[in-house]
Amino acid sequence: MSGSEQLARQMDQALASCVHCGFCLPACPTYLATSDEADSPRGRIVLMRGLSAGTLSPDDAAVAQHLDACLGCRGCEPVCPSGVEYSKGLEAARAMLARRRGIPFVARMVLAVFRRKWLWRPIMAMTRMLRATGIPAQLAGSGRLGFMMGMVAASRESRVKSRELRVERQGKNSRLSTLNSQLFTGCVMQGLFSHVHDATRRALEQAGYNVQEVRGQGCCGALHLHAGDDEGARALARENLAAFRGTEGPIVVNSAGCGAMLKEYAHLVEDAEDFSARVRDISELVQPDPSQLSTLNSQLVAAYDAPCHLQHAQRIHAQPLAMLKSVPGLTLLVPPGSSQCCGSAGIYSLVEPGLSREVLAAKIAELAALEPRPDVVLTGNPGCLMQIGAGLRAAGLDIEVRHPIEMLD
Ligand code: SF4
Ligand code: SF4
Repeated sequence: MSGSEQLARQMDQALASCVHCGFCLPACPTYLATSDEADSPRGRIVLMRGLSAGTLSPDDAAVAQHLDACLGCRGCEPVCPSGVEYSKGLEAARAMLARRRGIPFVARMVLAVFRRKWLWRPIMAMTRMLRATGIPAQLAGSGRLGFMMGMVAASRESRVKSRELRVERQGKNSRLSTLNSQLFTGCVMQGLFSHVHDATRRALEQAGYNVQEVRGQGCCGALHLHAGDDEGARALARENLAAFRGTEGPIVVNSAGCGAMLKEYAHLVEDAEDFSARVRDISELVQPDPSQLSTLNSQLVAAYDAPCHLQHAQRIHAQPLAMLKSVPGLTLLVPPGSSQCCGSAGIYSLVEPGLSREVLAAKIAELAALEPRPDVVLTGNPGCLMQIGAGLRAAGLDIEVRHPIEMLD
């Protein structure tokens, strides 16, 4: 069977159960933004079925445009009564489009960088140096450059609060570490959010885990898979499988997008079932110890934003909320649009900036209207942290954005 035939079969198998009921339409951020059926899950499924049957061509610019505009947020999957595996269909469709027309230049450059540690590590180091100057925070705004600067500024650690928390933690006993765990460090999380990794390590140690980090791990490959570079994604998956071979204990992830990808490696490469079965989001492992929290009183109002690849792809929602609800003094708000995509979606905000910002605008408007006004938005994915953080700055809202594990830490 040729590569194209395999992709057509993957699309058929994933999408065959769609009965066109339309229950998924109100859950789709791009449909809500454009009101165009071709920008809805149901409309895109019709297009993908046309590609797999050969009645539509991958050269058709309109087909490509509507499939390119999909966020890949998977908001349409949990609401579907027929169990349509939309994301698997989309992966195959994007790979088919990429084989025919290539991957757009900007996306190709970004994917090439994240394919090579020796390239993304120095770029992340330079971004950290820029962030430390304070210039991104000064230039953050609503124009294209201002928004990018806002994204960089939003990745910084909340210095004052973190320092105070660390001082407070000194002298408190951790439980005896008896269980092994492996921290998945990733690329953007490692490069720009090492403070979230530090918080994750402390929370795991507090929960009785001994935290290890294997050498040779890298980017999970989600960016590549979602952009149609399935070969690049497979190569990265194989590198990570090799790096974790021989280790034991849960593989702990604090990035929703990476966690969803690692849990689905078995769909992509051979011999990945055992690896995927070990992958856990941090909120699945860590629950607060009331005796440790009893002396704290955070006096903060926080709004929880559910990352798409945590809620829709991994179906994890109750655990982070339970974790946050146990923090004394924290007023936790869960806005109705919490589970809607923020428009980040990997490299989507770079390649589809217009629709990305339109989708983000609805989220920022909802956060701005919350009563009481939140001090902080909590979300467990690097893209969401940067996108929402930049959106809040562009709207002139003085609201911080943090990972939920930082709140617990
Ligand atoms: S994807 Fe599911 S919810 Fe959407 S139209 Fe098809 S069957 Fe209905
Ligand atoms: S993945 Fe998200 S953007 Fe794409 S069709 Fe489904 S709900 Fe809409």
